[in-house]
Amino acid sequence: MVKADSADRLLRRQFLGKAGALAFGGLSSTRLLGQSQPASATDLLIVNGKIHTMDPANRVVPQVLIQNGRFTAVGNNLPVPRNVKRVDVKGRTVIPGLIDAHNHIVLVGNRPGWHTPLEHVFTIPDAIAVLKARGAEVPSGEFISTIGPVSAMQFMERRLPSLAELDAVNRPIYIQAAQGGARTNSQGKAWLEARSVTVAADGAIAGPALTAALLALRKELLTPETRKRSALDALRYYAKLGITTHRDCGAFHSDGPSGGLANENTYTMHDPFLALHREGAMPARLRIDFLHQDSPTANPPLPTLSQRLKNSFPFFGDEWIKTGGIGEFTGGGVEGLRAIAKAGWRAEDHALNLAGVTNLIKDRETVNAEIPLSGLRWIISHVPELPLDLANRMDAMGMGVLVGWGPLRNPTPANSNLGPPYRMLMNHPIKKGYHSDGGDITVINPWLNFSTIVSGRNLAGQQILGDQALTRQEVLWLATAANKWFLREDDLGSIETGNHGDVVVLDRDCFTVSDEDFKRTRSLLTVVGGKVIHNDGVL
Ligand SMILES: [Zn+2]
Repeated sequence: MVKADSADRLLRRQFLGKAGALAFGGLSSTRLLGQSQPASATDLLIVNGKIHTMDPANRVVPQVLIQNGRFTAVGNNLPVPRNVKRVDVKGRTVIPGLIDAHNHIVLVGNRPGWHTPLEHVFTIPDAIAVLKARGAEVPSGEFISTIGPVSAMQFMERRLPSLAELDAVNRPIYIQAAQGGARTNSQGKAWLEARSVTVAADGAIAGPALTAALLALRKELLTPETRKRSALDALRYYAKLGITTHRDCGAFHSDGPSGGLANENTYTMHDPFLALHREGAMPARLRIDFLHQDSPTANPPLPTLSQRLKNSFPFFGDEWIKTGGIGEFTGGGVEGLRAIAKAGWRAEDHALNLAGVTNLIKDRETVNAEIPLSGLRWIISHVPELPLDLANRMDAMGMGVLVGWGPLRNPTPANSNLGPPYRMLMNHPIKKGYHSDGGDITVINPWLNFSTIVSGRNLAGQQILGDQALTRQEVLWLATAANKWFLREDDLGSIETGNHGDVVVLDRDCFTVSDEDFKRTRSLLTVVGGKVIHNDGVL
């Protein structure tokens, strides 16, 4: 545990840092939770907005009142109670706080080095500018890192920055992409080579060297304090893109430091988030699912899952951090599913292809015949392929499907329809919601994911969705109101009286801007439970 006074210093340094300012334009985020004491909820009356409530009638209203952390009135000509701050948003588009119903934010919050997400930049010069700005707040000789949710495909140049380009930043740099290799600069190369990691002359790190590099960085750079800093940075970064609730779907377990992008100690990796929570400093909500991978031949059976089900509480916590169920791997085959159903927990597995999802559904039908699953809200995520009859069979068991997971996917000459079948699912009664699955194998930035779903194109502009694209209204609904079901929380995801006051004032009208501008959408004001988490000149 970090002592309170040093924690305060850490928070102050983080919130007063300059990198965010340069990355996101004029920063007034010194006011965000800005002092050593966490921000308290402010009563706010937002006026003159195009407020897309995502309520059942899809109302768009000009005003909303937040008191004691919740919406208390939504509409027009609302009374102005005393001690309420009136915020004129000057006709801007306002949406409910976005919910990413399955990602790996906890992995991102445990990255070694001064982790610096780059998901909002689309050229290498812009990426260098962000890294340079970050350098201004990073002590000399310490690593700036971007590990996981970054990809060559997002840059106009379709490659990662080179050693020569990264040398413009006077700090060691380590960038490891979700799909394809890592890059470092001269300072980073020297550090890594001193630890016997092979680095090419252009700064590229590949193959086994990739594992060795990440392992070395984790071994030497991670402390409880740096993890807490990364956790806070990650949550704040995505709050600036509009995400106010993350549902984390775990990691592959490693007892000690690992060289795997998706690996962490799954029993301790939540500690930095829990530390922030204890300090009242969570800038977004976190929901935690537990990933298990027991071998089907283990003896005794289900060694970790059975203990989890005996010794943990599902759906326990408060509005900021709450546990969930088992996923995104349940492990343990049908036996594992049976144990989860018997315990009355939620289960989630992901599917990567048709054979995979077919087997998952078959196994659930076996369990469902013994223990009805309806009411447990079991989930299958990713589902690149999900024919109508499988959607019917899932729906018949009361299951839901999470979709997204697309912007980095590569079409083949034979197949430019990589799924999932969004349009079919939108027209189907099955419960569906949005997830990015970002953090290790893809990006979390919701606007990059939404962009793929509405344009049908990946980040390189290639068609990947056939005729299955959705409207912007539909994709925003999936990432807000539709995700209530997946959180089992009815008071998030829409701007309605009584719900948590999670609201985002956008920098552009995401319903009308061009596709190119749509993916650059960001928040000017993010409010979570009445707390101002990010303010770029609106207040
Ligand atoms: Zn996942």
